[in-house]
Amino acid sequence: MPFLEVAAAAPIPYTLTYKSQSACHRELTAGFRLLIPLGPRQVTGYLLAISDKPPAADYRIREITDILDPYPLFPGSMVNFFRWLADYYQYPIGEIIKAALPGGLAPQSLRRISLTTAGIASFANSSPPQIPKEYLADLCEKHELSAAQVKRIWRRQKNRTVIRQLAEQGLLEIHDEISKDQVRDKRELCAQLINSPAVPPDLKKSEQKTMRALLELSRQSNRQWVAKRDLNKAYSGSGKALSSLTGRGLVMMEQRKVYRNPFGEVPPSYPKPHELTEHQKQVLAKLEPAIKSAAFKPFLLHGVTGSGKTEVYLQAAELALQSGRGVLIMVPEIALAAQIEGNFLARFGEQISLLHSGLSKGERLDQWKRIAAGRSKIVIGARSALFAPLSDPGLIIVDEEHDSSYKQEDSFCYHARDAAVLRARQAEAVVILGSATPSIISYQHAQNGKYQLLSMPVRVENKKLPKVEIVDLRAIKTVNKRPPLFTPQLIRGLRENFHLHQQSLIFLNRRGYANLMLCQSCGYTLQCPNCQVSLTLHKNRQELVCHYCGNTRHSAAICPKCQSTDLKAMGFGTERIEDDLHKIMPQARIARLDRDSAMKRKEYMKILQAVHRQEIDILVGTQMIAKGHHFPHVTLVGVIWADASLGIPDYKAGERTFQLLTQVFGRAGRGEFPGRVLVQTHHPEHYSIINSKTHNYENMFQEEVNLRRALNFPPFSRLINLRFTGENESSVKEAAHKISQAARHLKYPNIDILGPSPAPLARLRGRFRWHLLLKGGNWQNLHQLSHKLKEISNKPPFPRGIKLSVDVDPENML
Ligand code: ADP
Ligand code: ZN
Ligand code: ZN
Repeated sequence: MPFLEVAAAAPIPYTLTYKSQSACHRELTAGFRLLIPLGPRQVTGYLLAISDKPPAADYRIREITDILDPYPLFPGSMVNFFRWLADYYQYPIGEIIKAALPGGLAPQSLRRISLTTAGIASFANSSPPQIPKEYLADLCEKHELSAAQVKRIWRRQKNRTVIRQLAEQGLLEIHDEISKDQVRDKRELCAQLINSPAVPPDLKKSEQKTMRALLELSRQSNRQWVAKRDLNKAYSGSGKALSSLTGRGLVMMEQRKVYRNPFGEVPPSYPKPHELTEHQKQVLAKLEPAIKSAAFKPFLLHGVTGSGKTEVYLQAAELALQSGRGVLIMVPEIALAAQIEGNFLARFGEQISLLHSGLSKGERLDQWKRIAAGRSKIVIGARSALFAPLSDPGLIIVDEEHDSSYKQEDSFCYHARDAAVLRARQAEAVVILGSATPSIISYQHAQNGKYQLLSMPVRVENKKLPKVEIVDLRAIKTVNKRPPLFTPQLIRGLRENFHLHQQSLIFLNRRGYANLMLCQSCGYTLQCPNCQVSLTLHKNRQELVCHYCGNTRHSAAICPKCQSTDLKAMGFGTERIEDDLHKIMPQARIARLDRDSAMKRKEYMKILQAVHRQEIDILVGTQMIAKGHHFPHVTLVGVIWADASLGIPDYKAGERTFQLLTQVFGRAGRGEFPGRVLVQTHHPEHYSIINSKTHNYENMFQEEVNLRRALNFPPFSRLINLRFTGENESSVKEAAHKISQAARHLKYPNIDILGPSPAPLARLRGRFRWHLLLKGGNWQNLHQLSHKLKEISNKPPFPRGIKLSVDVDPENML
C-alpha cells in the first residue's frame, strides 16, 4: 500500500503521511488537492509524493477523506520548488501552496460537464459509452450535466474514470466553477471573409462597405477574425449587412475569444522589426544556444530605457516555444505592463495566459487550468505568476528585475525574482533578468560570473538618452525661507514645452496635499492613532489620512494635545503640485496619476489613455508614472524634489533613488523628439543624483558597492530580519530581547547580531514593532540560526501573543 505525503494547508512546518483506499489511489499523482483529517478537523491538503516507504513506526496513518478535484492543480515537477521555498523562506509548505493556487477554490467546487462539438457528433452517431443511464438523456439533449448531477456521478470511481477518458478524447469538457457566470471564456461574435477579398459588384452599398471594412481591419490587425464590435465601430451600418453577407456565403461568423488590451482595444500587431539592432543581435546570439541546450543558465540583461528589451524577450520566447517548452514572463505589476502584454498577445495569440489582479476568481481559475493542462505555453503575470503551473518552463523572464514589488512584504516574505532563478535551476531553464538599472545584487552576480551579463547600452535607432539638468535648490531665491516648489527654470521649461505642443511629466514620489499637520500653538504633529506616522492632508477629499493603515479623519481636526484648531499644513505632495500647477499654467490640461487618483484599474487606464491621445499636456504623478510607459510625445520630465527617497533609513536608499530617477528620466524623448529632464534637488552632489544625470550605471554600481563593502552589507553578506509584533509594547520588547539573548548564546561564528531595537516604524496598525537583524557571510549558518530561533519562539518562556516573522533577504527595513 502506497503512502501519501501531504502538505496540509495549515501552519505546520513539516509534511504529513496519509493512506488512501486502493481503488482511489490509482488516479492520484502529485499536485492533487485532498481533503484530510487533521486532529478533529477536516482540512485541505496537497499531495506532494507517493511512496512505498512507511513513516516511523509510531506514526498513526490516517485515511484521506476525499479527492477534491478531477485533475492535479500543479505539476509534480513543482514539488521540489515548493519544498525549497518552504525551507529557504522558513514558511509552512502547505500555506505556501495555498497562497500559490488561485484564490476562491471552494473545498468542493461546483463541477459541470458538457459535450464538445466532437462529442455531440459522436454521441449522435454511435451508441454512447458507459455513462449511467439516468444521465444520458440530459447529456444528449441539453449537452450538459448540472453540478448536482455531476456530484452524484462523481461518487463512483468507475464513472470518474470513464468521464476522464472521454474528456481526454475531446468529447467532453469538465468545468469547475466558482459561480456560473464567471467561468466561461469571454467570447465575442467575430466575422471572417470566406474566400477572395474581391468585392462582387452586385452587392448593396452597405454590404460593399462592410466587406471593405472587414478587409481593412483584418489587414491592420494581421488576423483573419475581426470582432463584430470593432467592425461596427469602423462602419456603423455593418450589422445588417453582415447577416446578408453570411447568407450569401461570403462571410462566416463565429463566437471566439478576443484578446483586448487594458485600453479595451484589440492590440495592434507589432510586426517583427525588419532588422534587429546590433546589440539585440549580439544578445540573442548568446541566448539562442543556451535556450536550445535546455540547461540552467542565468542571464542579466542590462539595457538602457528604450534599447528594445521587449523584442529580445519576444524572440527568446519564440526559441523556447520551438523547443517545445513553456515560457514564463514576470513583470512588476501587470497594470504597468500593457506594452509587453500587447506585444506578446499580438505575436503569440491564443497560447498566452495572463494572470493579473484584474481577473475575477473564475477567470483566474480558468487561466490556471489552461496552464496546468498544457493548453497555454506562455504565461505573463506579476509576482504571483512565479507559481504558474507550467510543467516544463524552458525560459523565465523577469522584467524590471530590480523592482521592489517582486518582494512580498507580509506573511510569506518571498522574493519572486530570486525564486524565479531557483525555479529555472530546478527546471533546467534559461532565466533572463532584465533592467535598465539592475539591482546591485544581480549586477554583482554578473561581475563574479554567477550570471552572464548581456548589455544593450544604446537606444533603438540611436535615439539619445535625455539631457538632464540639475537645479540646485540651495541656490534658488527663497519664499518664507523655503525654495518654491516650482523653480523659475522648471516653469520656463514647462511653458516652452507647452507652446511646442509637447507633453510634460512632473514627478514627485509623495501623495496627498501636505504630509504634516503642525499645531501652531503647541508644536505637536498630528499622528495616526494606530501608527507612529504623521497624517497626510488630502485637500480635495477634506481628509487626513495615514498612508500606512488607511486611518482617515476629517481635515478640520483639533490638536489632541492642546485642543487648538490652529493647525498648519506643511510639506507637499502630488495633490499640492497639481493645484499649484493649475495656477501657474491655467491654460494647460493637467492630470494626476497616483494611488489616490487611480484607485481602480479603470481610472488608471482612463488617465493613461488620455495621455496617449494627447488630451493631457502635463501629467503629475508618483512612481506610477515612472515605470514601463511608452509615451512618445513626452519630451520634458520635471522632478520636483529628487531627495524624497534619500532620507529613508535603509541601506538601499541610494540604490532606490538612482533606479527611480533613471526610470523617470527614461520616459522623456522616446518618440520623434529628443527629451529633456529638469531635476530639483538639495543634494546635487549626491552620487545617486550625479550618476543618474550622466546615465552612468557602472559608476553608480562602483560607488554603491564600495559603501556596501565598507559596511559589510549585501552583496557582501546576507541578512535575515526577525520582526516581533504585538499589541503590548513591553511584551514585544521582552520577546525581542529573549530571542536576541538566545541568538548570542548560540554563538554562531561570523554572524553579527544587530539589535534588538524598535523598528523605524515603531507602531503600525496598532501593533508595536521591534526587530533583530542577523547578518552573516555564510547563508547556511545564518538560516540554521534563524530556524533555531524560530523554534525557540514556539515555546515558553517566549511571551504569548507576540508574532515573530522571519524576513529572509529583506528589501525593506522599516
Ligand atoms: P525597453 O523595454 O528596452 O525600454 P522597448 O522594448 O520598449 O525598450 O523598445 C523601444 C522601442 O523600440 C519600441 O517602440 C520598439 O517597438 C522599438 N524597437 C525595438 N527593437 C527594434 C528594432 N530592432 N528596430 C526598430 N524598432 C525597434
Ligand atoms: Zn497643539
Ligand atoms: Zn496608521
